[in-house]
Amino acid sequence: MSQIGTGASWRGGDIPTRVDVVVVGAGITGAAVAHHLAHWGVSVLVLEQASQPSAGATGRSGGMVRAYDPDPAIAELAQLSLAAYRDAGRWTSGRAPLHSVGAVTVADPAEEAALREAAERINGALRTSAHVVAGHAEMAGARLAGGVALVEPAAGWVAPTEVTADWLEQAVADGAVIGCGMRVQGVEERGGRPEVLTDRGVVQAGAVVSAVGPWAAHPVPGLRPASPVRSRSIQVSIVERRPPASPHSTFVDLRTGLYAKPVGLDRTLIGMPHLVWDAPFDSQPDPAHAQATVSALTAHFPWLATAPYVSTVRAADAYGTPKEVEPVSGLLEATDVPHVWSVRSWNGGGVKTAPAAGHRIAAAVVADVCSDIR
Ligand SMILES: Cc1cc2nc3c(=O)[nH]c(=O)nc-3n(C[C@H](O)[C@H](O)[C@H](O)COP(=O)(O)OP(=O)(O)OC[C@H]3O[C@@H](n4cnc5c(N)ncnc54)[C@H](O)[C@@H]3O)c2cc1C
Repeated sequence: MSQIGTGASWRGGDIPTRVDVVVVGAGITGAAVAHHLAHWGVSVLVLEQASQPSAGATGRSGGMVRAYDPDPAIAELAQLSLAAYRDAGRWTSGRAPLHSVGAVTVADPAEEAALREAAERINGALRTSAHVVAGHAEMAGARLAGGVALVEPAAGWVAPTEVTADWLEQAVADGAVIGCGMRVQGVEERGGRPEVLTDRGVVQAGAVVSAVGPWAAHPVPGLRPASPVRSRSIQVSIVERRPPASPHSTFVDLRTGLYAKPVGLDRTLIGMPHLVWDAPFDSQPDPAHAQATVSALTAHFPWLATAPYVSTVRAADAYGTPKEVEPVSGLLEATDVPHVWSVRSWNGGGVKTAPAAGHRIAAAVVADVCSDIR
């Protein structure tokens, strides 16, 4: 067995050379998977190329979470995940990470019946008071501009870096090792199982989970998912919210893709789809898009027209339409190396699904690792 340096490990011990599962990427997805695996007694090594976790999309994310999504598969994960974000008992910090500022989802009036059904489903599952408002000019601080709104008072936002850190802390407490500053360069088959090649040495694994986010568009050898993934730019800006602007809930308009969320007491994060594909993850902010975002959202938040600008952040997420791969229900895709699984692309919604997705992915991977001894 070869030895491997400890690298800049994050609250971890020595880097093992043989583990049940290697998780590649310490974003919110990798952390969610690692925490469940470690909790179930699986030996886990998380390898992250950056010097600390949340270095990718997770560290730039707005973290808006709501139970509703037009895609039923995502809605199911989002609903379960919202329950987890509300449950203080699941977190090392002892407090639930959710900031329950409420969520308003605006849609075309033709969607009213579908939104009412969704509200009923959410309330049945979470015992909340989600409801639909039609014919209102404004709701929870946002103008609806002719749309109908699904209001979820129990939704809101989380800080994705805090969630990721909490899960990694739980994983380490359960025996996982986190190797930061360690880039995976490739994965090959050796004796029917994966061998992970890193810039610090080689690790033998029973299975590998690739949770590399936007980098899945240009994966290292052995981590290429079965269906194509592209990276798409996401750009958000922060502005000051001064009186008489009122506090508001999180906001998404499904007709346009415009969104906003409060950040602390006097700031608001705003965003609009930035349809730039395949740009490098660290591309410079696009000032014209930032200005267009302010103009477009003024229809919903008129005070934005004079709000002082604070900053703009640009990053990317992984976009694609994953194939259904049983028994893992579209959450994992096979690669060209046996027992190496690529997590589906989250299309800009990886935070609101992470708790439930992490649980399901971990369960599927445990089954895969155990297939060795059948
Ligand atoms: C500006 C912005 C706002 C967003 N807002 C929301 C929101 O409001 N709600 C929501 O639900 N979602 C939101 N998203 C989307 C969400 O943040 C992402 O879907 C989610 O963070 C993806 O997490 P991940 O762990 O899959 O990927 P990432 O966080 O990108 O993590 C992947 C990790 O893998 C590492 N890695 C890559 N290649 C290698 C390698 N070869 N070896 C080792 N490590 C490697 C990277 O360094 C990175 O740390 C937003 C995204 C952005 C960018």
